[in-house]
Amino acid sequence: MVKINDNFLKLPGSYLFSTIGKKVAAFQEANPDKKIIRLGIGDVTQPLVPAIIQSLHKAVDEMGSAETFKGYAPDLGYEFLRTAIADGDYKARGCDINADEIFVSDGAKCDSGNIQEIFGLDNKIAVCDPVYPVYVDSNVMAGRTGTYDAASEKWSDVIYMPCTMKNNFAPELPKETPDLIYLCFPNNPTGSTITKAQLQEWVDYANKTGAVIIYDAAYEAYISEENIPHTIYECEGARTCAIELRSFSKNAGFTGVRLGFTVIPKELKVGDVSLHSLWARRHGTKYNGAPYIIQRAGEAVYSEAGKAQLKEQVAYYMNNAKVIFNGLKEAGYTVSGGVNAPYIWLKTPEQMTSWEFFDFLLEKANVVGTPGAGFGPSGEGYFRLTAFGSFENTVAAIERIKNI
Ligand SMILES: *Cc1c(COP(=O)(O)O)cnc(C)c1O
Repeated sequence: MVKINDNFLKLPGSYLFSTIGKKVAAFQEANPDKKIIRLGIGDVTQPLVPAIIQSLHKAVDEMGSAETFKGYAPDLGYEFLRTAIADGDYKARGCDINADEIFVSDGAKCDSGNIQEIFGLDNKIAVCDPVYPVYVDSNVMAGRTGTYDAASEKWSDVIYMPCTMKNNFAPELPKETPDLIYLCFPNNPTGSTITKAQLQEWVDYANKTGAVIIYDAAYEAYISEENIPHTIYECEGARTCAIELRSFSKNAGFTGVRLGFTVIPKELKVGDVSLHSLWARRHGTKYNGAPYIIQRAGEAVYSEAGKAQLKEQVAYYMNNAKVIFNGLKEAGYTVSGGVNAPYIWLKTPEQMTSWEFFDFLLEKANVVGTPGAGFGPSGEGYFRLTAFGSFENTVAAIERIKNI
């Protein structure tokens, strides 16, 4: 009889956002006249910008003509997009990344979940705590994380790097040496960043210990301050220790369009085995390429018109971030994030747990946020609000919170 992969059964409880969804639905049913404002889930709300829409229309028309029809895309992505990425995201910042080191995909969630497949099961992973849940859960599914302890909410074989107010939400080098290190800056959920000098320490550490860093730069477009690295390849030596994940979801509103990419430099090797070759082999076997139409839309992100329009879109969300940040501060909350990321991270008041504060906010202000505990044990006592709503809703939500 068929056997299942029982690593899947080890995953505890229900998924964070489905728990939130159920609570919100129950509240709405009990209070049908209340208008709920959602600042919980990290999904964009603004429409695609005109440069992207034009590019989509053109590509659709090409698919309808025998001369320009396209079948399967190259597994690693079309040259036009890989070149636009290499030039726009890397060469323009003085980083030595070439088009053939870029693997186009349908998003960074898939890549961040799948990338662990090219690494052995006996690797020790290190994650920030709190953390984007995909990194840990995909390793649980693979069977790399040991046993789960419900009391501490920790996996026995995972190295947790606490990120709290004490260390300004920046992880410290772990005492126990990891093999795979997941880093995400600007960070989801805390909205924190680290400086180039701090990231350089991680790169030096990985090169010294033989670890690989998986660097998630999904929020790179939201960086507003100087001296915050936009890519790990700004650091010297990153080509021999780092994989970078990128997404078009947050910088260009592609959450429903789907496009992302992973960078694996050719020098990134374990012994004499190239990780670039392993990922190319994996991609070629299990993935048939992002759609032509969508890759053309991605190319438009790097056009002059696209860049100008997207700068405005990011500014719109970051204005919301400012409204949330300043409003909460005025209301007496302890807040961080929101300057280089569309996430505001606040300390729950009066020792409330993060789920207590979730219920409190839903009931008293009809505002939905995300409890910090859902992102890891060190997220307890914190709460995440996102800047991805409309300006009007954001202003209204903050007014309500101030008036509690
Ligand atoms: C939103 C997000 C992504 C992007 O995922 P896509 O699959 O490209 O939509 C990746 N990493 C983090 C941390 C995110 O918050």
